[in-house]
Amino acid sequence: MATKYETVIGLEVHIELATESKIFCSCSAKFGGEQNDHVCPACCGMPGMLPVVNKHVVDLGMTAGMMLNCDINRVTTFDKKSYYYPDLPGSYQTTQWFSPVAVNGTVRINTSKGEKDIRIKQIHMEEDAGKLVHDDWTNTTFVDFNRTSVPLIEIVSQPDLSSAEEVVAYLERLRSLLRFAKVSECRMEQGSMRCDVNLSVRPEGSNVLGVRTEMKNMNSISAIERAIEYETARHIDAIENGTEELVQETRRWDDIKGKSFAMRNKETAGDYRYFPDPNVMPVCIDDEWFDGIKASLPEFPEVKKDKYITELGLGEYDADLLTESRALCDVFEEAYAECGMAKEAANWIISNCMKVLNRKQLTADMLDINGKALGQLIKLVADGKVGNANARKILDEMFENDIEPEKYAEENGFIVSNDTSKIQDVINAVVAADQKSVADFKSGKEKALMALFGKCMKELKGNCDPQILREMLLKTIQ
Ligand SMILES: [Zn+2]
Repeated sequence: MATKYETVIGLEVHIELATESKIFCSCSAKFGGEQNDHVCPACCGMPGMLPVVNKHVVDLGMTAGMMLNCDINRVTTFDKKSYYYPDLPGSYQTTQWFSPVAVNGTVRINTSKGEKDIRIKQIHMEEDAGKLVHDDWTNTTFVDFNRTSVPLIEIVSQPDLSSAEEVVAYLERLRSLLRFAKVSECRMEQGSMRCDVNLSVRPEGSNVLGVRTEMKNMNSISAIERAIEYETARHIDAIENGTEELVQETRRWDDIKGKSFAMRNKETAGDYRYFPDPNVMPVCIDDEWFDGIKASLPEFPEVKKDKYITELGLGEYDADLLTESRALCDVFEEAYAECGMAKEAANWIISNCMKVLNRKQLTADMLDINGKALGQLIKLVADGKVGNANARKILDEMFENDIEPEKYAEENGFIVSNDTSKIQDVINAVVAADQKSVADFKSGKEKALMALFGKCMKELKGNCDPQILREMLLKTIQ
């Protein structure tokens, strides 16, 4: 009988933290800028510069730890990991080895096989490296230090994952929890979430681990899926048919060729000569700091979803869409608190706000409007004070400026006027100018009425109760 195999996968996920400045100096941690614009002697690894830990980095490290059910180390320390590479000016990376910020967590995932808890070994804080830019024209390589010392956390799982499906579910769950807690935007395509995949294969039921290979810096979920399937098949083929000798090594995944290639022998911890960084003070987390972070944690997305359905009466579909993003939840909750109409608030966000975001090529996470003002706008529409088309114009303006919807509507002539004599004047003029539509309507063409209605509404600049206009128009024609 043929042997059955199981895949054993552990992940190291690097996440760039949403901080303004770098981990050990005050240089900007933001993307962009000219090359080597965001640098100082500290992040360039100049001798004698003393690093100072950015407190916000520790805040976010603790937040991530708590979101993933970890224990927080109340004294957390930084260590030097030595290796040489041109984008690492000090020839060592400052990271955490002996006492990382968070340990022993769990993340629950849901796949076609049901629920499963993935254990988290640790979360440590560390600095990113710089970037090498190769210029083929002059055959020269440049170093850009803008990214050196940008803060990262690395989330190390135990080897509890056993398929591409589980890995995808795990990464999506991490992304959702960390975005909710505003730890990071976790954008794989922009490199703010990257993943190293450690994989081995063994006969089902065996408790001995097979030879492990590592694929580094994977930055798309679909590539990770393909790489895991390819590596699993390669390992099984090597074991069954002796096609090659499996060695512990780091491999590069080529997504275009759909193959992995050997890069170098895998380093062991000993190669890095970890030792405590004498320049960085240990960070002591007292009760006040710990409790403050604990109190700031958001509700989990599924708790919010449940509340939206049971307490606010939203449908499952709407609740699902809103809880995909913390930004949508925040705006929705503020708008609802203001207008008291949950369904309307959800509709405005899911249809109108999403349309504006799409037009601006922004994602849901980037929704940045005043929720209270959105609630006021929804009330204006519900009270018949502003027509739908004009309300959408006001919404557009809300994406640009912090406005008061009612005041803005008044200033721009968007308040519905039900001055019937003015409406009658407009109807008379439109009807007189378009006798053909009137005749069409009288001969049974319903559509002709819509044409006349549209012309009147346009003349009135949308500031008219549609019901009143329709009734008056019909009366006039008949
Ligand atoms: Zn700096």
